[in-house]
Amino acid sequence: MRILLVSPSVARFDATVHYWQAEFAACVAYLRRRFPGHDIVAEPAGLTCAPGRVAVSQLLTQPDFLLIWARVWESPAARELGLLAREITPDTKILVWGDGPLFMRQYFAREPFDAAVVSGDPELALADAIERFSAGNLPGHGMVVKASRADWIPTATGRWLEPAEWPFPALDVIPFSDYHIAREMRGKPTDDLSFDVSRGCAVGCKWCVDPLKGGRTDRRRPVQATVEFMAASLGPYQQFQCHGPIFTADDEWSREFVSTLRRKNLCIPFKAVTLVNHLVDESLVAELASVGMRAIGFGLETLTADKSRRLLTPKVAERRLEQVAANLRRYGVEGKAYTQIGLAGQVRDDVLYTHRVAHDLGFTVRPTGATPFHLLRSMSVAELDRLDLARWDRKSFYNPSCGLSRREFFQLITSPGTFAADGRKEVA
Ligand code: SF4
Repeated sequence: MRILLVSPSVARFDATVHYWQAEFAACVAYLRRRFPGHDIVAEPAGLTCAPGRVAVSQLLTQPDFLLIWARVWESPAARELGLLAREITPDTKILVWGDGPLFMRQYFAREPFDAAVVSGDPELALADAIERFSAGNLPGHGMVVKASRADWIPTATGRWLEPAEWPFPALDVIPFSDYHIAREMRGKPTDDLSFDVSRGCAVGCKWCVDPLKGGRTDRRRPVQATVEFMAASLGPYQQFQCHGPIFTADDEWSREFVSTLRRKNLCIPFKAVTLVNHLVDESLVAELASVGMRAIGFGLETLTADKSRRLLTPKVAERRLEQVAANLRRYGVEGKAYTQIGLAGQVRDDVLYTHRVAHDLGFTVRPTGATPFHLLRSMSVAELDRLDLARWDRKSFYNPSCGLSRREFFQLITSPGTFAADGRKEVA
């Protein structure tokens, strides 16, 4: 059996390699474990200079299964690749997974797709589907699946994989030298290896894929396996991205993580993402910094400039930000504030105020366009086809209702440290 995994396109702006590591390369590792001895080929075509040519050369080998990893902005490219595959290798089963089908399953419930992952842990859904198809059956969970020529039906809800079974990224999928070049070209300072530490988020922000991807309950990889992987994989990577929605969501896990690293006399550089309110706890910041935490990201989304209005981001307690900034400064941890430009209800003053506050507090500001992915879920296929989905990436999605000119928007996105609003020398 030959299984081909492809990521189809280079997004115009958002080419974060870390998701290839944490999702694509990890899925490859799981399939290799489930199907030892079979031919499992991973082609991160989107990371190459000629994704079409690279993907076609693999399709010509006529794999039994083609698994396409597609985020929303890659969905048209995924469909194009699937249609091409249907012509070149008609007997290949074409499965798709990633943020694209999680947000808009209807887009994929049509030709040329045989099935799309819409719930559960994707590695498990894909591997089980491959087994079922190979035995002449339809997949049993986590998918919308082609039942007849023109009928795609939902299966049972997807199942979760035991966290101890979560794969680590297969390191040969993105050779270190390729990663290193991509990282340098993006102007990033360190070589980071990203892997899943937790999945699932109870907060449930409507635009966010994490609750769809991992469910509404925090699930965690066992500490021992996490630490062992980090210790064994240091060099050539200098730092780990402990991937997951809210790194500090589980106090017990955090304490065990710190004590395990200490017991082994390890201090391993890592970064993670969490809720900003958790960072008010100085002892938590101190403990994590003592075992290697170098940076922590948090969704500031947007602050509300006019305090008489309803808060636009209730999950952020603005009055605690000074304490957070002081804690991070004291223990040498970089605070990365993720902000969004173009959220519903947000006005120009909110955008400028958010940026100024975050900047003045010493956070590294990481703005993105506010992509309302949740709106895609209720659209018809015809409506989705009329959208230019390729522009739905978080680094280029401009909505004029944010009150910024396009020049300001792109300056804020690409160079937040030197951003100056129109007509002013700097944000006042
Ligand atoms: S808190 Fe963060 S991870 Fe959780 S749903 Fe909101 S944006 Fe997503």
